[in-house]
Amino acid sequence: LVRLRARLARSQNVFGQGLLSLLSSDQLDEDAWEEIEDTLVTADVGVTAAAQIVESLRTKVKVLGTRTSADIRALLRTELLAQINPELDRVVHTEPRGESPAVVLVVGVNGTGKTTSCGKLARVLVGDGRSVVLGAADTFRAAAADQLETWGGRVGAPVVRRDEGADPASVAFDAVSRGIEDAADAVIVDTAGRLHTKTGLMDELGKVKRVVEKRSQVDEVLLVLDATTGQNGLRQARVFAEVVNITGIVLTKLDGTAKGGIVIQVQRELGVPVKLVGLGEGPDDLAPFDPEGFVDAILE
Ligand code: GDP
Repeated sequence: LVRLRARLARSQNVFGQGLLSLLSSDQLDEDAWEEIEDTLVTADVGVTAAAQIVESLRTKVKVLGTRTSADIRALLRTELLAQINPELDRVVHTEPRGESPAVVLVVGVNGTGKTTSCGKLARVLVGDGRSVVLGAADTFRAAAADQLETWGGRVGAPVVRRDEGADPASVAFDAVSRGIEDAADAVIVDTAGRLHTKTGLMDELGKVKRVVEKRSQVDEVLLVLDATTGQNGLRQARVFAEVVNITGIVLTKLDGTAKGGIVIQVQRELGVPVKLVGLGEGPDDLAPFDPEGFVDAILE
């Protein structure tokens, strides 16, 4: 966890430190406030949230009249935390229900890190002593099932797959069935993420969920978003949110960007908590999203 935090800090604190130094400037005039707002927008916090943060900081700085750097850091920390909404439920529900495995559907556009996130999540659970079945329901990309199989071998989880072009819903169904037969603790299903047409996606994902629900309750639908894709990622997220009921977000590639403000924007837009963050390509580079740790890393 310490290592993850260090990695997060390295990529994020460019933005946090920039803000702190702007806020600590001797002259907090109109230009300075504008620059602070721009910095927030550049970090993908979102225009509305950036304006709110600046407004609130301005008022507080004026009212309190205090300008020590410790005070300013504390004010900024409070503002960012309030925007991240520490109250949201961030538990990834992967506890088996009696005899039935927990079922997690992982959705998102290709290239965002969906398959990698399935593998990493399996690794966390297996590391915790739980048995996991992986389902390769991304049958449109030949490499996807191979990739998931590699992850399965690496983390010790069987992979249910079929030939390329097979019906994703039936693979998902088989994976859940296998999980039930094996009395596994969790089934993680990697779904296809083509975003050619919204209707196609809707049909496909909707069907996967409906078919799986014939066999089991679905405990989590995790949407994988690439933190480096900014507004584009948000547009994708909106489409997915219309199609399925998303229970949490996995924000990947936070290690490669100083645009961690996307955490704020995504939650505001979708009203869904960021539950996990991807901080690299390795098996251990997945961490629970901890708002306080995140904000502290930004302001380190
Ligand atoms: P999918 O098409 O959505 O299933 O995406 P993949 O899981 O194949 O991932 C696409 C690429 O992103 C791969 O090269 C992954 O190694 C990489 N990737 C996934 N998650 C992360 C992350 O958190 N950080 C970094 N730096 N790379 C990641």
